[in-house]
Amino acid sequence: MKRQLVTLTLAGALITSTGAFANTSTIIAGENGPNGPNYNGNETIKNERLHSYEEMSDLLQKLDQKSEALELEVFGQSVKERDLYLAKFGMNEDNPTILFLTQQHGNETLTTEGALQLIKYLTNNSKEVKHIIENVNILVAPRLNVDGAEGDVNFSLDDYVSGTHTRYNANGVDLNRDHVDREQPETKALHENVLQKYSPDYMIDLHHQGTQTTLGDTGELVSGSILYPTNSEVDEEVREQSKKLGAVVYNAVDSKGYGLLSKYPGGTAQTISRNGLAAEYGISTLLFEMRGMADHYREDYVLGQKSNGYLIQQAVVAMKSTLEALADDTLESADASFWDTLPESNYSGE
Ligand SMILES: [Zn+2]
Repeated sequence: MKRQLVTLTLAGALITSTGAFANTSTIIAGENGPNGPNYNGNETIKNERLHSYEEMSDLLQKLDQKSEALELEVFGQSVKERDLYLAKFGMNEDNPTILFLTQQHGNETLTTEGALQLIKYLTNNSKEVKHIIENVNILVAPRLNVDGAEGDVNFSLDDYVSGTHTRYNANGVDLNRDHVDREQPETKALHENVLQKYSPDYMIDLHHQGTQTTLGDTGELVSGSILYPTNSEVDEEVREQSKKLGAVVYNAVDSKGYGLLSKYPGGTAQTISRNGLAAEYGISTLLFEMRGMADHYREDYVLGQKSNGYLIQQAVVAMKSTLEALADDTLESADASFWDTLPESNYSGE
């Protein structure tokens, strides 16, 4: 069984592109933090803490009914004709607009849980929230890959650890490689009905990576990794703003006891939203990869549920901190020099 998974690992490495692989021995993680234990082969993967598509729709519609501030929009449909939701707050043309995008990959679930918590938070009528909404336009597109997240796809998930979630959409396409051609209904709708319609100034694209990602060669497991657009077509000013966005997120996460971030060793392909949206629309983008996935055919990518709470909070902290920085106009003065010394990820998986 183990041997079989190792074989799959090698085949999977080519298409998952998580960056550098170091063949060091497995790191033993002792704590229940976000960089704590991963799936250990005998724990049943339970995903009931996660919102199913149905539960997510119900929650969004309920919040929309009770909240004045939230405007819920359906911006398109998936291959399997599930509605794609966009939660909007603010929308004053004098204010900056930020988009939080989650779960382009259906097996990267906790980012959406964080997005749903953020949406709920923004429907409370506190002074703090009013201040944010008066100064920032907020777009949240939770779970772009709604079919992959339900495992409702036109291919078999028999070789997956849990068989419930997949990276790909129903047609077997990686949506985060479709930002130039836009051949899939999910990416096409995102571009035409969100990006081109609302022209966001900033975007954070939230993902999950393998569980054994470490801070450089320290052997320390990270709770996440971040990166700005790295392709040469991106305007330098857009790249600088992206780095500042990263500084705000880094400082906010770093100040929490559970947060440890590395620099994601990402490529320059424009088909990826981090690069493509920055180049095509001049959006300042940040990729945030959090630890572990709900399901994968690589065992070392799958995280049990012990760390879910911390990782969801990490996503909320990342999003909230950028909203506060934009509302308070402190993003401009963020010090992006930490990028020069931030260690790149290493990967200690098998
Ligand atoms: Zn991803």
